[in-house]
Amino acid sequence: MRIDKLLKNKKTVSFEFFPPKEAAQESVLFDTINKLAPLNPDFVSITYGAGGSVAHKTFDWTLKLKDEYKFNSMMHITCYGNNADSLRDICGRIYESGIDNLLALRGDPPKEEGQLLKNNYSYAEELVKFISDNYPGLCIGVAGYPEKHIHAASMKADIENAKRKIDAGGSFIITQLFFDNAFFYRYRDMLAQTGINVPVLAGIMPIVNYKQIIRFTQMCGSTLPPSLVEKFEKATDSDAVKIGEEYAFIQSQDLFAQGADGIHYYTLNRYSSVLNILKRTF
Ligand SMILES: Cc1cc2nc3c(=O)[nH]c(=O)nc-3n(C[C@H](O)[C@H](O)[C@H](O)COP(=O)(O)OP(=O)(O)OC[C@H]3O[C@@H](n4cnc5c(N)ncnc54)[C@H](O)[C@@H]3O)c2cc1C
Repeated sequence: MRIDKLLKNKKTVSFEFFPPKEAAQESVLFDTINKLAPLNPDFVSITYGAGGSVAHKTFDWTLKLKDEYKFNSMMHITCYGNNADSLRDICGRIYESGIDNLLALRGDPPKEEGQLLKNNYSYAEELVKFISDNYPGLCIGVAGYPEKHIHAASMKADIENAKRKIDAGGSFIITQLFFDNAFFYRYRDMLAQTGINVPVLAGIMPIVNYKQIIRFTQMCGSTLPPSLVEKFEKATDSDAVKIGEEYAFIQSQDLFAQGADGIHYYTLNRYSSVLNILKRTF
């Protein structure tokens, strides 16, 4: 089902997974999916590794989640690793398979230059326009950044970019992870003031490992509040999951209470924190 239609009637809870590289990791993902399935997410999504060894797996997993698990599924797709020819091929297969939703992203530049295809699109806006012009039956989501995209010239420039992506055919926004809900509320207000009225889903990542989250936040430009940093600095590694879960639970409670259009959980292919958060919530 198209996510934009779903969002007309309800606030959503969704889960993001990544395609495993190796067989051993596949069984971890199957286990996670089986544990989370009873929560009946409104949709699930599968990330796309631009030009990487698992890029082709994204479509297969999206289809598997739709056909075998009966999830409403969304495939991520990036400019990097694709041009109009490859997009025609993949979007055609998506459409024919009955997958209704795509998250259109620029992606992060691949480490090896050779992985860039000729005539790659440069920005998500161009990808959104291509999909929307050629596959109007597909519902397109786009990424948004409550703390600004790390390479955007300013918050204003980044909001203008969000507007261009929506004007090109995007029908909802999923945000980058954030750990201070004030950033999300400010972002929502800025979008509304710019005339962007599509649903904005909050991206929440329950932290499972302190070193990992430092790496992630350095890469994506999201910030960790000093009070949370202090908690992790004092904690042992085994306490980290509990601290991360409690923090994401409190964030989620506040977002639900403040009427967020939806929460998109970055699961990292793990189930326990998301399962506990949602069992405590509903
Ligand atoms: C919910 C979510 C899911 C994601 N999933 C994936 C995934 O599956 N695979 C993956 O590789 N990455 C993924 N990412 C990461 C994303 O690809 C990166 O954040 C990437 O750096 C930007 O992607 P974008 O679609 O926001 O790009 P864009 O919207 O194109 O913006 C990229 C940057 O360019 C600037 N910009 C845009 N247009 C112009 C212009 N005309 N001139 C100058 N500057 C411009 C923007 O302000 C911004 O700084 C995800 C991010 C989010 C939030």
